Amino acid sequence: MALETYRKKRNFTSTSEPAGEDGTPARGHSFVIQKHAARRLHYDFRLEMEGVLKSWAVAKGPSLAPGEKRLAVHVEDHPLEYGDYEGVIPEGNYGAGPSIIWDRGSWLAVESPEQSLPKGKLVFELKGYKLRGIFKLIRTKGGPTPGRDWLLVKKVDAFSRPGPSVFPEESV
Ligand code: MN
Repeated sequence: MALETYRKKRNFTSTSEPAGEDGTPARGHSFVIQKHAARRLHYDFRLEMEGVLKSWAVAKGPSLAPGEKRLAVHVEDHPLEYGDYEGVIPEGNYGAGPSIIWDRGSWLAVESPEQSLPKGKLVFELKGYKLRGIFKLIRTKGGPTPGRDWLLVKKVDAFSRPGPSVFPEESV
């Protein structure tokens, strides 16, 4: 059920993306960020939760600067198998273009996601190769796609850095 929207958008005879299996055993608390050069370049931020990858498309990518708000559009749940996906989605398919695993690792809830997610808030710590420390995702009112617009913001901690964030851009 959770993956119905994901599957409807894709033709798995034509794209190399995984259809995903229902009932894939949970791996734990993984996260992955895919840098996806579709029609518009964006970073797909995915957190493993409830047996799927909850997903947000972050147009400008993450920032380590506290208070720097990055628009994160909530998109359909993706299968856990998607966390290993790198490849080129062929022309004519949904999201056509190359996608690499820009970062991956595990996440830890700082506030209970069961309670805060329905209210449009997630606070969590990332332990990745490029991203570390506490981040929050906050749903906003209005914005270009009302109800789907969230903001990804770094909290102040030992891993926050003021000013423009520069990351190695290659696949991890
Ligand atoms: Mn994408």
